[in-house]
Amino acid sequence: MTAEEPLIDSLECSVYTVPTDQPEADGTITWSATTCVVVQAGAGGRTGLGYTYGPAACAGIVADLLQEVVVGRPAFAVVGSWGAMVRRCRNAGRPGIVSMAISAVDTALWDLAARLVDRPLADLLGRVRDTVPVYGSGGFTTYDDATLRRQLEHWVGDLGVSAVKIKVGQSWGHAAERDLARTRLARDVVGDQVEVFVDANGGYTRGQAGRLGHAYDDLGVTWFEEPVSSDDLSALAGLRGELATDVAAGEYAYDVAYVNRMCGAGAVDCMQIDVTRIGGITEWQRGAAVAAGYGLDVSGHCAPALHAHLAASVPNLRHLEYFHDHARLEPILFDGVPPVYDGVLHPALDRPGNGLSLRGSDAERYRSR
Ligand SMILES: [Mg+2]
Repeated sequence: MTAEEPLIDSLECSVYTVPTDQPEADGTITWSATTCVVVQAGAGGRTGLGYTYGPAACAGIVADLLQEVVVGRPAFAVVGSWGAMVRRCRNAGRPGIVSMAISAVDTALWDLAARLVDRPLADLLGRVRDTVPVYGSGGFTTYDDATLRRQLEHWVGDLGVSAVKIKVGQSWGHAAERDLARTRLARDVVGDQVEVFVDANGGYTRGQAGRLGHAYDDLGVTWFEEPVSSDDLSALAGLRGELATDVAAGEYAYDVAYVNRMCGAGAVDCMQIDVTRIGGITEWQRGAAVAAGYGLDVSGHCAPALHAHLAASVPNLRHLEYFHDHARLEPILFDGVPPVYDGVLHPALDRPGNGLSLRGSDAERYRSR
């Protein structure tokens, strides 16, 4: 540590719950609100901001376990702080809420470090591109045809995306005919030049996923996400061999070992990784490196504003998921959310850090803790 190096002097947590614009469901759950746990880390008069889309309990993990090992550490020793957090949580269990809490802190610490040197975060992470390809994601099973059509037209017409993703697997695979009809509708709306992705959220059985997979192949679907449970690696690998579509999964990767198991099993064509779950930027980069070792691309799962600078800095990135709930929520809670146009997201490269700041009174009305 150099004499001038600032030390982390504060780590604050706040929780916001924002209702969805209408009832939402995928193949296997329904929801009506999204909770965002925000961490702000201070050092040298600057504040770094990170967050996770996890339950409010993440704030308890930050307060009870993480604060004590992070505050007082050198602000630029981000990976060192990450290691201290992981060690502190050994007996609490790493996956799930603990990993989400670590993710929120780690993303705040990277942002803080970039702000302290007055550079955009992508520069600190070794930028490889100035914009990030995104695909439109939503298409909830609760939508009627008119709503689905409007959303698809918005993504393709207004945002210029070259791929869209809808939810299938409705009612744990008990509405397969409707899944196919909605996929046909999506294809009709976006035309042949835009890729159509489907996400079953693990809603199909193994046999059903194979049979429906051939029907999705016939509709030109190029991305079949979690056709079965992402825990069933051999089923994913088998489907990958049977179908023309790419098979994707990985949103529940809470550490790099998970990424290694999934890639090593030959289970996916593209590894999805979520910076708000896996352990922040530190572990996301390690996960992307493991995937690269298997010759695989990675795709950023949700939280587009938080992934922006990271996704701009990873060589084997395929795309980033522009998820409806988060694309809607992030500008409610934060100023400086990077815009999407011409099919790509534009990280702010003219501002320090990730460019995000909490919107005081506008965010306050959604605050629950
Ligand atoms: Mg998914």
